[in-house]
Amino acid sequence: MARYTDSVCRLCRRENQKLFLKGERCYSEKCAMNKRAYAPGQHGQGRKKISEYGTQLREKQKARRFYGVLESQFAKYYEMAVKKSGITGENLLQILESRLDNVVYRAGFAMSRPEARQLVRHGHFTVNGSKVNIPSYLVKAGDVIAIKEKSLSSEKIKAILEKNAGRPVPKWLDVDFENKVAKVITLAAREDIDLPVAEHMIVELYSK
Ligand code: SF4
Repeated sequence: MARYTDSVCRLCRRENQKLFLKGERCYSEKCAMNKRAYAPGQHGQGRKKISEYGTQLREKQKARRFYGVLESQFAKYYEMAVKKSGITGENLLQILESRLDNVVYRAGFAMSRPEARQLVRHGHFTVNGSKVNIPSYLVKAGDVIAIKEKSLSSEKIKAILEKNAGRPVPKWLDVDFENKVAKVITLAAREDIDLPVAEHMIVELYSK
């Protein structure tokens, strides 16, 4: 399945939820959700009552779009979540949260997850000292993510770091912003993940 290339703001409008895919713009008056908080398209303002299946599907799509994950990869993460001990829905969110692009975003080294994905692909980060340019790389507790020395002179990265200085980071990450290094203390628990997603509905959807 091809990656989505249309306006990402349409995705927020479709989910009726800010997905924070455009960095600073998402926090400004220009956010499309401030102006048109209804689904895109001809029938966007006249939605019918949504079925149980429809609600479960929307929760899955919302989670997938928050993290920018394709359908097939999302299904693989679900399989991994089922095999892990614990609650499947929470396992699923923990796996999504462990993606390297998400960790880069959470640490404040990117303004949005899509930007983090791009920066990772361009080889700006190391994990435990080795270059990793795979956004879907799953970090583990104890991993150390750093901006490459050479990348610190990039104007784009300098601007991001300036804007994000002092931004709160989740407690499962220990971020040394001065040295541009983030350590994964432990994998994120459900209470650490601030996404408005009802993960049990995703499990219900896949269990059909
Ligand atoms: Fe979503 Fe950001 Fe666009 Fe607002 S500006 S609609 S939060 S992607």
